Amino acid sequence: MSTRWLATFESDLPRIIADLEALVRLESPSDDAQRVSQLAAWVHDRLRERGVSAELFPCPPRGDAMLASIGDRERGSLLLGHLDTVWPAGTLAEQPWRLAAGRASGPGVFDMKAGIAVGMAVLAAIVRETCASPVSLLLVPDEEVGSQASRAMTLRVASAHRQVLVLEPSLDGAAKVARKGCGVFQVRFRGRAAHAGLEPERGASALGELSRFVSFLDTLAAPAQGTTLTATLARAGSAANVVPEAAELCVDARVWSRAEADRVTAGLRGYQAAVAGVSLAVEGGFDRPPLEPTAASEALYALAHRLGQELGFELGAARVGGASDGNFVAAAGIATLDGLGPRGGGAHARDEHVLVADLPVRAALVAALVCEP
Ligand SMILES: [Zn+2]
Repeated sequence: MSTRWLATFESDLPRIIADLEALVRLESPSDDAQRVSQLAAWVHDRLRERGVSAELFPCPPRGDAMLASIGDRERGSLLLGHLDTVWPAGTLAEQPWRLAAGRASGPGVFDMKAGIAVGMAVLAAIVRETCASPVSLLLVPDEEVGSQASRAMTLRVASAHRQVLVLEPSLDGAAKVARKGCGVFQVRFRGRAAHAGLEPERGASALGELSRFVSFLDTLAAPAQGTTLTATLARAGSAANVVPEAAELCVDARVWSRAEADRVTAGLRGYQAAVAGVSLAVEGGFDRPPLEPTAASEALYALAHRLGQELGFELGAARVGGASDGNFVAAAGIATLDGLGPRGGGAHARDEHVLVADLPVRAALVAALVCEP
């Protein structure tokens, strides 16, 4: 079964590469709603030409989402991905599309235009070969900036399916069976200004308290369990000779489990200032819950692993720090397997590329997962 799919996608490879080139050439930075919507429309139009029904959904203030479906969603699989990239418009001029030595390169090719090309190929082949299994493809406009505008839609669409296959990049070919949850906290400190030379004792240093807070992060973190707290941005003070009245700190938090997310949130919110006259407020929280392995997702991985063996490769299982929309849908209790995109490297980096020979292999794996009863 899966090897039959491999033959199908090997003969479709020229079309898949042409799609991938067009996808990369249509630059789609998250903050440019118009360009992202143009890409959504391009995918929508190609799928319709190939006999798949597709619709566009506005996600203000971001660009459009694209949803294509074959058959009855209730029993079907959802292929999930994103249209946006981290690259600003114009990157293509410095980092052009290239196809050489078995690699395709260009901005966004790995994260995750190759995954989009695979999803399009799977839907087109399923329509053509009339496999009875229902399948949908949802591409959102804002995953790289936290999916605020598309999250409700993703959850609604995902919960109408039996399983979610996320076409985000693989990690050296491995699927992503666990992802850390991530949070961003903003901490604002308020003290009292005073002349640093004449009467510093009348001041209350917001910066002094900020520095204590940064040390406190080390006591709250649990690196052995994967819980990290990183102070990433800081701002304080108004002049070189004034005790700082205000300070701000941004903290990036990553955890493997919900329990750790709750512990870290309570710890940060419960912090008591020690510098007399300084108060603080902690805002923010865990924006994406951790993707924790469940029985349903482990069964899905086991199936994918067996199908991979039929296709001649060992599908690894990776645990990664970065979050994706797979985190939301898994936390909602839907069987989810992430990182099914083709092999490659350099996500968010200048050497971003995918291995062309892996495109038909991944398409065959995804199609086999969709069509497995
Ligand atoms: Zn991505």
